[in-house]
Amino acid sequence: MSKIHIVSNRLPVSIENGPQGMQVTPSVGGLATGMRSIYKEYGGQWIGWSGIASDGLSEQEVEAIDEKLVDENCVAVHLSNEEINLYYEGFSNNIIWPLFHYFAQFIDYNPDYWEAYIKVNRKFADKALEILEDGDTIWVHDYQLLLVPEMIKAEKPGVTIGFFLHIPFPSFEVFRILPWRKELIKGMLGADLIGFHTYDYERHFFSSVRRLLGYEVSFNQIHMEDRIIMADAFPMGIDYAKFSGKAKEVSQKSLQEKSELHRELEKYFLGSPDRKLILSIDRLDYTKGIPNRLRGFELFLERFPQFRNKVTLIMLVVPSRAAVEQYKLLKSEVDELVGKINGRFGGINYTPVWYFYRSLPFDNLIELYSSSDVALVTPVRDGMNLVAKEYIASRVNQTGVMILSEMAGVVKEMGEAIIINPNNDAEIAEAIYQALNMPLEEQRERMKLLQQRISRYDVFKWASEFLKGLKKIEAIQQKFL
Ligand code: UDP
Repeated sequence: MSKIHIVSNRLPVSIENGPQGMQVTPSVGGLATGMRSIYKEYGGQWIGWSGIASDGLSEQEVEAIDEKLVDENCVAVHLSNEEINLYYEGFSNNIIWPLFHYFAQFIDYNPDYWEAYIKVNRKFADKALEILEDGDTIWVHDYQLLLVPEMIKAEKPGVTIGFFLHIPFPSFEVFRILPWRKELIKGMLGADLIGFHTYDYERHFFSSVRRLLGYEVSFNQIHMEDRIIMADAFPMGIDYAKFSGKAKEVSQKSLQEKSELHRELEKYFLGSPDRKLILSIDRLDYTKGIPNRLRGFELFLERFPQFRNKVTLIMLVVPSRAAVEQYKLLKSEVDELVGKINGRFGGINYTPVWYFYRSLPFDNLIELYSSSDVALVTPVRDGMNLVAKEYIASRVNQTGVMILSEMAGVVKEMGEAIIINPNNDAEIAEAIYQALNMPLEEQRERMKLLQQRISRYDVFKWASEFLKGLKKIEAIQQKFL
């Protein structure tokens, strides 16, 4: 039987070198959940970095990792600290990430990054080629591995290759800035099917293909010298049942069974009906629009004094890329803004912004989603934004209002949200006011439609639609031959 393999930067497991030797724990993230059902069902392997730098490990330890991973159907690509610095932190996070999110001013054009990116992409491709047989399928994920499809296709044209980009693909006028633009596009074109979250990203990709390489694009097919390939939009979903199921479970718990966080939230908000909670959750990243959100909230409290002492913004910021200069600056900016708002509007019994700089366990996340009257999601650029979908899935009683940036990929599936431009503080302030005044009946009408849509296109559906796309392009290619 032909197999389906997966390649991504990180393996879907975390590995710890503890007192009892190497411990491997499967991850619970969205991609891991969606993909696990696929590569295990089709007898494939998952190829990726283990998360541990190889230069700190002895040969025996590397062997122990490889052995442990066999049980998980995983194969490790071992990377040194230098490779991680140059390929991952460098080229991936200091060049592609800012560029693809329209932050060209943050790019560090270091040619060493590019050399390392080629070298490490080659390592991933070689590891995949050791396993692949003609007739197999391989699904390559994300911006760290843009060159891998071409590297595999060149050696094994009989393998069907899918590629999915989890971040935006920018407009050609932005993409062209990059010195290595042609090489990256060619790398992606090694795939038979290229997936994006939205049709807009797909359109941008097509115009780069046309302008840089001159290939003809008709409908969603690209005609190259000797091949036809396809690109399409596949908006990634969440494990909806997991979120809605846990939210139901949480809602049925008695007061004693609830977590301390949940008890405190209930005491503060449910005990007093005119108190309202607005939720904000993201990784600390300049793409997420966290300062804009805080400025919008400050303006809201300024313009609508009747809501002071009543409305709280609970803001969970998950630490991320803390060694990078821009992220350190952003952290200071956020800390300062929170202090400013709390100093200006707070009192003995009122803290306008409850700020957590950490990550929370799954159960606590669900408690936050299900206790909040409004979700405030204001990225200045975001490939998709799964937090928005998770909020919708967790609203068991079908109330709650979503305020959503028009710059997030998820907005294409959420016409019922209050949609704002994240650069417009006044619009954010107005949207908060509108959300807090929205009648329950209207909240339910909007929420029902959102829940229907987001539950239908969950992460399993997303993965199976992508595989269907691969079958479709295989059939088209057969006819073309
Ligand atoms: N998340 C988490 N722990 C936390 C807060 C958030 O695991 O303490 C998860 C959240 O549930 C979501 C993911 O982090 O699945 C963030 O995904 P999103 O697409 O919103 O943004 P990204 O960080 O991928 O840019």
